[in-house]
Amino acid sequence: MPSCARLATALGGLFQIPTRRVWQPAAGWQPAPQEHCAILEFLSPALANKAGWRTQMKIHEYQAKSLLACYGVAVPRGEAASSSEKAAEIAEKLGGAVVVKAQIHAGGRGKGGGVKVAKNPQEAREIASKMLGMRLVTHQTGPEGRIVQKVLIEETLPIERELYLGIVLDRAQGKNVFMASADGGVDIEEVAAKTPERILRETIEPGLGLTAFQARKLAFGIGLTGDAGNLAARSVVALTQANDAMDATIAEINPFILTKDGKVYALDAKITLDDNALFRHPDLAELRDVNEEDPLEVEASRFGLNYIKLDGNVACMVNGAGLAMATMDIIKYAGGNPANFLDVGGGANEEQIRNAFRILLLDKAVQAVLINIFGGILRCDVLATGVVNAARELSVGVPVVVRMEGTNVEQGRQILRESGMNFTVADGMRDAAEKVVALASQGAAA
Ligand code: GDP
Ligand code: MN
Repeated sequence: MPSCARLATALGGLFQIPTRRVWQPAAGWQPAPQEHCAILEFLSPALANKAGWRTQMKIHEYQAKSLLACYGVAVPRGEAASSSEKAAEIAEKLGGAVVVKAQIHAGGRGKGGGVKVAKNPQEAREIASKMLGMRLVTHQTGPEGRIVQKVLIEETLPIERELYLGIVLDRAQGKNVFMASADGGVDIEEVAAKTPERILRETIEPGLGLTAFQARKLAFGIGLTGDAGNLAARSVVALTQANDAMDATIAEINPFILTKDGKVYALDAKITLDDNALFRHPDLAELRDVNEEDPLEVEASRFGLNYIKLDGNVACMVNGAGLAMATMDIIKYAGGNPANFLDVGGGANEEQIRNAFRILLLDKAVQAVLINIFGGILRCDVLATGVVNAARELSVGVPVVVRMEGTNVEQGRQILRESGMNFTVADGMRDAAEKVVALASQGAAA
């Protein structure tokens, strides 16, 4: 057994880490290899979050709203569309004036131009046709933005006030906290930063749930009295029930609105689901939208590769999560920056190696590749053949450093030498890291 796998098994046993599940588009939810979870969770929760066994799954606003409606939260009438014709058709059905909302897995759309009012179906068609396919940049998407693939077409409502309702886990208390504010809308982050006292909080006791008293206190606390107060208290309870029933990690309505005729609605909704509970909710698991995930990561998951894109320029191909972590560390130690985390798995085949190599090279930032493999179940000759075949097919424009040890290492080296390609064969991990970092910085300078 390779040493990294042994370490991982030891860690897994020690910390009793439950088996996680990985999503594989062809096969659905599969148990994640124990060793990967153990190491990632133990060493780097943030990385585990980004990895194939993400701990959270985001869904779209239109999906969140239809789920919340099932639990009794009032939402505007509306429907999602992926074409401008369909958008106009929905607007027609809704009676003319509508709001067109970009559906991406990020907030801040209002300020970024992803929420527009249309006076009639013709205008809805025009706005939708501009919005669909556009690259929407908001403060939550990063500079690269997201391509809009769907829009939500909704009836417009006469807004009197924009409020905020949300549930998050308070890790310090180990309990969910219900938050409500009279200052909802697009500037809630600023409210939280500058006037935190404007956000009311009620801790949800796990054994009790949110009590009717707490719900009313929150509703009245954000300025809703009389019938509107009762309606709001009911929404507060409904949101709590929805959050529990779906095993959500975040359930947020911002803005929660009061209309001029005294009704309340969820005008926006954000729900994030706990991946580890998705096996209990196959219907919710189907709401996953891979269009919203990093395309290289989705591509890698098709071949059962654990790939996470990072922002350096040294691509790494490694077998075993522990060795991959160590490789990233030693690249840093040598003064470089890894472009990715890639664990091809202990028993990768030639096909997977070829695809792994291809995916690594699709990243434009890559200036050099380090292949660091400990040949156990994956034999060095299989690795070398996969790499050589991939390199032939892909016309590799960057230097490749290979460090390998283990089963059939001599045959592996021979295959690399005889390939006629310019691989740098390294002697040990430190040598490999130093060589690859030097080559990458030469590439970056050129
Ligand atoms: P976010 O910016 O991504 O959180 O998107 P929201 O759905 O919260 O929309 C941002 C803002 O657009 C809201 O705070 C509202 O002021 C406005 N907005 C959203 N939906 C409607 C609507 O149906 N009618 C009107 N008049 N304004 C809306
Ligand atoms: Mn919002």
